[in-house]
Amino acid sequence: MTFSKTLTLNTGAKIPTVGLGTWQAAPGEVAKAVEAALKAGYRHIDCAWAYGNENEVGEGIQASGVPREEIFIVSKLWSTFHRTPEKGLQESLEKLGTDYLDLYLMHWPIPLNGENKSHPLVPTRANGARDLDEEWSYIDTWKEMEKLVDTGKVKAIGVSNCSVPYLEELLKHAKIVPAANQCECHALNAELELADYCKSKGIVFEAYSPLGSSGSPLMKEDVVLDIAKKNGVEPGTILLSYLVNRDIVVLPKSVNPTRIASNQNIIDLSPEDIEKLNQLGSGDQQKRYCNPPWGVDLKFKGWKVLSTAK
Ligand code: NDP
Repeated sequence: MTFSKTLTLNTGAKIPTVGLGTWQAAPGEVAKAVEAALKAGYRHIDCAWAYGNENEVGEGIQASGVPREEIFIVSKLWSTFHRTPEKGLQESLEKLGTDYLDLYLMHWPIPLNGENKSHPLVPTRANGARDLDEEWSYIDTWKEMEKLVDTGKVKAIGVSNCSVPYLEELLKHAKIVPAANQCECHALNAELELADYCKSKGIVFEAYSPLGSSGSPLMKEDVVLDIAKKNGVEPGTILLSYLVNRDIVVLPKSVNPTRIASNQNIIDLSPEDIEKLNQLGSGDQQKRYCNPPWGVDLKFKGWKVLSTAK
């Protein structure tokens, strides 16, 4: 068991390898889930302004009685705040009821026009296309995020949904190397190259949708079931252990107290089992469950880096 294992960020801070995901946790459920997680031993909560439930997450933290300084809280800058990261951060801090974040991530390297109020998350143009802010790049955003570190309101900054080319471009201009990159990664999407690249740059790689997102479909994969049977554990333990064994942070979302608790069970897998899962996740059956139309192609086909760095 590697229960409550941590990884060290490039700031020297420790990040617990298992964090509670809070996306799509319905109103009325997430405060209880956060409270249950913290009482069960979690010390890492993954949040985002875009999830629309940070106030409830804050309530759950408060109800748990766990001191703020013991908890690693992550939130994310939404795409309509790329020109105004301080505003986006302030809104998250107020909702969460805290005066600092342990890690603040750029949710997507995609600046959207924050002046366009046609939709709270993804403003659109008259033709229905997302309203990209083409005069601004995620590099510009990063430079603004770097300034937030000096305010003390964020202990570390990082990115999310960045492929290797996006990171390469960012590192050409960054004063601060991102502490983390959070991307979809699991048994059907191993992201071997991206994870290796992050490791080589001292960027902690974080896996979202580690169970295959809504309904946890990866629990039914034959390879996963076989390895679970051999090890005498639940399939979920295999899915999460596979990533933690690769030194990847996992963010399983659950609102069910029993599943919340069991998602902390991490075992050491044999190199053979890890290799089987690596092959499953990098072969023809590769799959992404979270590929929203406003996002980027992590494989970087057909997309140019929006770098107009000033
Ligand atoms: P997950 O892969 O964590 O899967 C969540 C689903 O699995 C839910 O339906 C949950 O149901 C179910 N589940 C959880 N544990 C178990 C278990 N032990 N047995 C059976 N079913 C289980 O999906 P997410 O897409 O939510 O990803 C996790 C987190 O990653 C998000 O919540 C969010 O914090 C982050 N994320 C970040 C993104 C980004 O762009 N940076 C994008 C997507 C996610 P139930 O709740 O009923 O248990």
